[in-house]
Amino acid sequence: MTFITRFAPSPTGPLHLGHAYSALLASDLAAAAGGQFLLRIEDIDRSRCRTHWEDQIYDDLSWLGLRWPVPVMRQSERLPAYEDVLRELWSRGLLYPCTCNRRDIAAAAGAPQEGVPLHGPDGLIYPGTCRHRSQRSGPMPTDTPLRLDIAKAAGASGLFNATPEVIHKNSVFIEFGTGPNGETGQIAFNAQELTDTIGDVVLSRRDMGTSYHLSVVLDDAAQGVTHVVRGQDLFEATRIHVLLQALLGLPTPVYHHHMLIRDDAGKRLAKRDDARAIAKYRTEGATTEQIRATVGL
Ligand code: GLU
Ligand code: ZN
Repeated sequence: MTFITRFAPSPTGPLHLGHAYSALLASDLAAAAGGQFLLRIEDIDRSRCRTHWEDQIYDDLSWLGLRWPVPVMRQSERLPAYEDVLRELWSRGLLYPCTCNRRDIAAAAGAPQEGVPLHGPDGLIYPGTCRHRSQRSGPMPTDTPLRLDIAKAAGASGLFNATPEVIHKNSVFIEFGTGPNGETGQIAFNAQELTDTIGDVVLSRRDMGTSYHLSVVLDDAAQGVTHVVRGQDLFEATRIHVLLQALLGLPTPVYHHHMLIRDDAGKRLAKRDDARAIAKYRTEGATTEQIRATVGL
């Protein structure tokens, strides 16, 4: 079996025990399958990424005993590839410009319908304000955020044969790990769920020319990743990724979402939890074996 996985940190702060767990687990799974472990630097948010954090990622991961092929893929060097795909989606009429800010979205979202969640993987579910009033023809605007028309994308993806009669037809991805509610195995979702629980996500952010969702899908495909190992916080976003893969004719990898490492109070670790930074354990003389034992590997 071909097994290619990756660890894809953003250099916006020190890596902590949660990152150590994710990277070690991915590398262990690759080793057990006779596969390959890759590293990718997710540095599209230029306002928050710093080269010293990137350098520390290399130091921390090497100290943990991880090895990866070089050169490492860096998203900041892939902007032309992202733009090409945005242009393709634009020419297919699947994107529209939107400059609504958080406050506009909150005001327009109003009271949620009963049973329909208010929040999706990117925060408040976009109520669709600009979906019909924005221009979709002519040259693609490059100075404005672009949203994916998710209902139209679901139809164009061929995943659901989204005629009104079969809107509940399911698409699936394979989960080798577990989602936050124990989801595992074949994970089914339909077009209605995409519109109700995800909505029109931004694919090109202001000042970025891309977004997490677009970049992660294109990069996993470009690197030939077959198994995506990452935290359960990204489980809900996976349906967006599967939709984009289908739209763009890219293979869908197997997903392996893992538990999140929490602090003593049960809160998931954040970048600002310097107390659990790998670098701190390292300078205090901890061993890699102790880190492994702490995260249960
Ligand atoms: N760059 C993302 C993060 O640091 C991970 C992306 C992924 O694994 O899909 O949370
Ligand atoms: Zn808008």
